[in-house]
Amino acid sequence: MSDPEVTNLLGLAPAALEALVRGWGGKPFRARQLLRWVHQRGVDQFSDMTDLARDFRALLQAHCVVAAPPVQLEKHSADGTRKWLFDMGRGNAIETVYIPEDDRGTLCVSSQAGCTVACPFCSTGYQGFSRNLTTAEIVGQLWHANRALARAPEGARLEGTAASPRPVSNVVFMGMGEPLLNYDQVLGALRLMVDDHAYGLSRRRVTVSTSGVVPMIDRLAADCPVALAVSLHAPNDELRDRLVPLNRKHPLAELLAACNRYLEHAPRDFITFEYIMLDGINDTDAHARQLVDVARQVRCKFNLIPFNPFPQSGLRRSPPQRIRLFARQLTDAGLVVTVRKTRGDDIEAACGQLAGEVQDRTRIAERLPDRARVIIRKKETA
Ligand code: SAH
Ligand code: SF4
Repeated sequence: MSDPEVTNLLGLAPAALEALVRGWGGKPFRARQLLRWVHQRGVDQFSDMTDLARDFRALLQAHCVVAAPPVQLEKHSADGTRKWLFDMGRGNAIETVYIPEDDRGTLCVSSQAGCTVACPFCSTGYQGFSRNLTTAEIVGQLWHANRALARAPEGARLEGTAASPRPVSNVVFMGMGEPLLNYDQVLGALRLMVDDHAYGLSRRRVTVSTSGVVPMIDRLAADCPVALAVSLHAPNDELRDRLVPLNRKHPLAELLAACNRYLEHAPRDFITFEYIMLDGINDTDAHARQLVDVARQVRCKFNLIPFNPFPQSGLRRSPPQRIRLFARQLTDAGLVVTVRKTRGDDIEAACGQLAGEVQDRTRIAERLPDRARVIIRKKETA
């Protein structure tokens, strides 16, 4: 797989696959056939691709593979959630979570091993940054999940939903990493996810979640507009600078303007604002009032995320009653609000608990969370 002469087809967006096939003198429909074998039927052996000509199969055999990253560990939760730990080499691992619901099956994928943004409430942020995932490694998470779930003995739901003939009907980039800081590789993966001959997911069923990489929000709007979730977490720059350190580079006013530009291209007519509920930090009545003012500037829906604690964070989840009152203040102002249910917490699969293991990290990224941690702790004890 690491042989540079060998191409992993999981990493080839439709246009690149067509170029490869054309280079061998093949017609574009050959590339489409191949997309269907690999991504729709989950086949990795070229000898099993029976409607491809024998000499075409021989070329594929000589120059290509279909290979997802190796699975290090798989866990099943009592609520049906599943988690896979994929080995990324050099001591790094990333995590992928499948969340079944009545009408859909959502896969939460990772885009980087670690993350440079270093939000103090996120266990990925504490690990520092190791490296960007390739398109093949991102798509490999989806390819593997569809295959593993189709084989699962747990009944009809895992054979697909009305929305999708395959188990995964929705993909969210809410695992480890900041997808818009790995733009090119994420874009290749998105193109495969929405291609009719590959995964065929509607753009509304693929969601990129970002901490607010403003220039890349504009590029995504131009290149492949899918549903967008923005991790807001604070209603003013002073607090957001500390909770989402990237805010120092791209402050709220810039971010909100980018959201409005995105809406001109988006497949949905709203942006989802994610807002993590941290006890005593961002959950007061005053914060809710400020948030209403922010929300008036963008057509949006709110997703309140109860903080999932992990040992090093030193932070606490807002009490349920506080979350209810906070949500009520927003709904009373006419906003649409949901409170995210925690799923899979018995297997550490809940938001922000995805740790994987990142050993090969850079040192620059490690310094940031320390500063942020100190500021938050000070505030807590004040
Ligand atoms: N980097 C992107 C996507 C990955 S994080 C982003 O920040 O949007 C996906 C979501 O999980 C984000 O909204 C993030 O704020 C949230 N999250 C991170 N740590 C969490 C924790 N400990 N508890 C609950 N949600 C968390
Ligand atoms: Fe990175 Fe998102 Fe975690 Fe922040 S919340 S550290 S941006 S993965």
